[in-house]
Amino acid sequence: MENEQVVVPQPPITAVCPQCHEPILPTYYFCPNCGKNLKEPPLSTSTAAQIGLYALSIIMPVICFLAINQWRGMKYMRSADPKAKQIGIIAAALMAVSTVLVVWVGIIWTEQLISSMTGGLMGAGNLGL
Ligand SMILES: [Zn+2]
Repeated sequence: MENEQVVVPQPPITAVCPQCHEPILPTYYFCPNCGKNLKEPPLSTSTAAQIGLYALSIIMPVICFLAINQWRGMKYMRSADPKAKQIGIIAAALMAVSTVLVVWVGIIWTEQLISSMTGGLMGAGNLGL
C-alpha cells in the first residue's frame, strides 16, 4: 500500500509579537502567547452590518439635533434671574469643554489609526504623547 505522505509545509515565521517577542504569523489578529491585539479584524461587510451602519448614519444627526433642542442652557442664559443665568453659563462652559475633549480625543484616535494603517512605522509610542 502506497503511503502518500503529504508534508504540510509550515509557514515561515516572519514576525514576532511586539509585546512578548514570541514568534507569530502575519495572519494573526491576536498574539497566542500574551493576547496582544496585533491588528484589527477585517470590517464586516455583511448585510446586517451594513443595515446597522446605514441606520446609525441616519439616526445619529437626528439624535444630535434632538439633544441640542432639548438643551435648556440657552433658556437659562437668557433668563433675567442672575442665578439661572449663572447656571446657563456653567452649562455652556461644560458643553464647550466636553466638545473640545471629544474633538481632541477624536483627532488622537484618527492619528493613531492612520499611523497603524501606514505600517506602524510611526507607532503611538513615537508620537510623544
Ligand atoms: Zn505576545
